[in-house]
Amino acid sequence: MNSFFLPHIQSLKPYSSAREESSVSSGTAAGKLTLLDANENSLGSASDLRLGTSTLELNRYPDPLQVELKKVIGDLYGIESEQLFLGNGSDEAIDLLIRGTCAPGKDKILISSPTYGIYKVLADLSGVPVVDVPLRADYSLDVPAIRSAEAKLVFICSPNNPTGNEFSREDIRSILSDQSKLVILDEAYADFAGGEDSLPLLQEFKNLVILRTFSKSWGMAGLRLGACLARPEIIKTLNSIKLPYNISAPNQALALQAIDGNRAFQSETIKVVSSEREKLVEEWSRLDGISEILPSVTNFLLVRFADQIRASEVYTKLIELGFVVRDRSNLPLCENCLRISIGTPEENARLTEALETKALEAFSI
Ligand code: PMP
Repeated sequence: MNSFFLPHIQSLKPYSSAREESSVSSGTAAGKLTLLDANENSLGSASDLRLGTSTLELNRYPDPLQVELKKVIGDLYGIESEQLFLGNGSDEAIDLLIRGTCAPGKDKILISSPTYGIYKVLADLSGVPVVDVPLRADYSLDVPAIRSAEAKLVFICSPNNPTGNEFSREDIRSILSDQSKLVILDEAYADFAGGEDSLPLLQEFKNLVILRTFSKSWGMAGLRLGACLARPEIIKTLNSIKLPYNISAPNQALALQAIDGNRAFQSETIKVVSSEREKLVEEWSRLDGISEILPSVTNFLLVRFADQIRASEVYTKLIELGFVVRDRSNLPLCENCLRISIGTPEENARLTEALETKALEAFSI
C-alpha cells in the first residue's frame, strides 16, 4: 500500500522528548519522582489552573501523545488510540497532511469549491498546487471529474461549509475507490447531521482520513482540539511530524473533563440547533427579501437574498444592528448569500426580528 507520505517524511527521525526517553509520563510522575530531565521550572509556575478541587501544575510539559485523552476520545468514536491523532484544532491535521504528503510545486491537492477556505490557504502556504473541481449546480460532487483529476490529496468537506449539505455516501465511496489518492473527509459538522456513520469506512478504505473537531457541537472552539482518524500507519507518521507538545496541558485536562463528564452538553446542543434551524428556515422562508435558504444539516444556514437586494448591503446593515454574519457572496454558487450561524433561541429571535423589521425593510421590498 502506498504510504502517501513523502520519502523524507517516511525516513524522518522524530524529535524525542526527555519524558519519552525516560518513559515517565509527567502526570503520573509529578510528586513521586524528582524530575530534572526536561529543563522545566522546578520552583513552580507563574500561573496555575484550578480544575474543580485540584490544581493543574503548569510548570511541567504535557503528555506529547495525549494517552489518557486518546483513550476517552477513542471510546467516544469506538476506535483504538493507534487510529487517532489529536491536533491543535483539526486545522493542524490538515496542515500536516498537506506538508507531509505533497512535494511543493509538484503534488496537488483537490478541493471542490465552494468549501472551507483553509485547505487552499494551507496548500498555498506550502507551495502546493490546488486543483479545483467545483461542486455542480445542485451542490453535489462532480465525481467523474474528481476521479479523473490528477491530485495526491482530495479534500471532501461533508457536511460542506458554507453550503450546509451532506454529500451522498455513494459519491464518497466512489471517490475513495480510487486508491491512488488520499481522501480527507472533513466532518467538522457531522455531529449535527446525525446521518450514516462514516467511521466503518475506515476498515474498508486504507486511503481514508476522517477529521472531526471539538469546536462545534462540543462548544470548545477556544480550546483548540481536533481529531484525525485513520489507519495506524498514517497516524504514526502524523505523530512523528507534529510539534512535540501540540496539545497543551490545560487543553488535555479540560477536554478530558468535558468529554468524559459532560456528553449531555453535546446532545442538548444538537437538539437545540436542529429545532432552531427548522424554525428559522420556516420563518425566513416567509420573508420577501430572502429568495432561498439552502437545506442544511449543520449549525449554520446559507441564505440567498432576492435579486433587488445586495447581500453585502444586508451584511453591513446587520453589523449596524449589532449582528455579525459571514458574507459569502463572492464564492461560486453562493451569489448574493450570507452564511448565518444558528445562535441561541433568543439571538435567533432577535435576528429574525431585525431582518424583518429593519435589515430587509431598509431595502423597501
Ligand atoms: N473543517 C471545517 C469544515 C470547518 O468549518 C472548520 C472551522 N470553521 C474546521 C475544519 C476547523 O476546525 P478546528 O476549530 O478544529 O480547527
